[in-house]
Amino acid sequence: MVATVIDGKAVAQAIRSEISDEVRLLSQKYGKVPGLAVVIVGNRKDSQSYVSMKRKACAEVGIKSFDVDLPEQVSEADLVKQVHELNANPDVHGILVQLPLPKHINEEKVLTEISLEKDVDGFHPLNIGKLAMKGREPLFLPCTPKANPLDSENFCNGLDYVKKCVDFDQLLVTKSLLKLCEAASVGIYFTTCMQGCLELLHRNGVSIKGKKAVVVGRSNIVGLPVSMLLLKADATVTIVHSHTSDAERIIREADIVIAAAGQPKMIKGSWIKPGAAVIDVGTNAVDDPSKKSGYRLVGDVDFEEASQVAGWITPVPGGVGPMTVTMLLKNTLEGAKRILEQRS
Ligand code: NDP
Repeated sequence: MVATVIDGKAVAQAIRSEISDEVRLLSQKYGKVPGLAVVIVGNRKDSQSYVSMKRKACAEVGIKSFDVDLPEQVSEADLVKQVHELNANPDVHGILVQLPLPKHINEEKVLTEISLEKDVDGFHPLNIGKLAMKGREPLFLPCTPKANPLDSENFCNGLDYVKKCVDFDQLLVTKSLLKLCEAASVGIYFTTCMQGCLELLHRNGVSIKGKKAVVVGRSNIVGLPVSMLLLKADATVTIVHSHTSDAERIIREADIVIAAAGQPKMIKGSWIKPGAAVIDVGTNAVDDPSKKSGYRLVGDVDFEEASQVAGWITPVPGGVGPMTVTMLLKNTLEGAKRILEQRS
């Protein structure tokens, strides 16, 4: 093994402990703790698992969870009314509407009703637009990219108020995530993974400025926001997608590889530049008859091969995954700090 294996669980635990301390300080200073409203509609097993995971995580760090459980048949108007009430509630600093919503409800409409100040998903077009524009900073940022390699302290400070991010796995109910959700024993989380990637690199001292970064995937929830963040951090960014020819050659030139294609072990060790930092967002369930569950999780990178070449690498599971709910907690904390400080 050549690469430093980035331990997402350990980093996540360290951050949770920092969050607990900050929550305690906020409580002493303002007599209030951060509040996160998690709205769920209907009885989907996967959504319920995600929601209970988030609520439990809130309790662990002292964040107050506001539970809004609505029946499958709730009307769009009633759901929007609930969102408006949460917008107006001064004890709620972040609002998550667990997706997917039932078919009779227009998700986009509901999400745009969430106050920008409390939109911990960060997918409001205004946020994404600001993320894409030079010299502008979004209020919220999709969480997986945030979890990606951030370079300097300055950059992090500049994004301080951005750190209320996305619980992006709300938007991501892939087959593999459903399976993962069932595999509670795996003990990993699937939310603010983008944000977690940035934090993982940052905490492992990987610099970004001036580096060649290749992002594999261009989805709205992972690839695209990660790419824009890397650009903001002064990397030279190339995006590889399903129509890219010669992906292998492009990836081999990268100092930083962010893999988010959803293709098991697509990226081979021979595709990695020696010493590169490899962040594997991919979470794919592959058949494994030796497991009780009948499957196991693998990333988009062939870990066994790539870890012999890379400088840093995240495993799957145990890399980006554990960071996700943790970053959601962190975003809620940051949002609360911003709101409480403004009001004091
Ligand atoms: P999507 O399916 O939405 O996007 C996949 C992207 O990868 C697309 O842009 C697609 O290109 C590109 N792609 C697919 N195949 C190839 C290929 N062979 N070569 C190059 N590019 C390819 O997936 P998501 O972004 O939602 O998720 C990506 C992965 O990350 C999944 O494994 C998912 O489970 C995982 N994930 C993990 C999270 C965590 O917390 N650990 C959170 C979120 C996601 P095109 O646009 O051309 O179709």
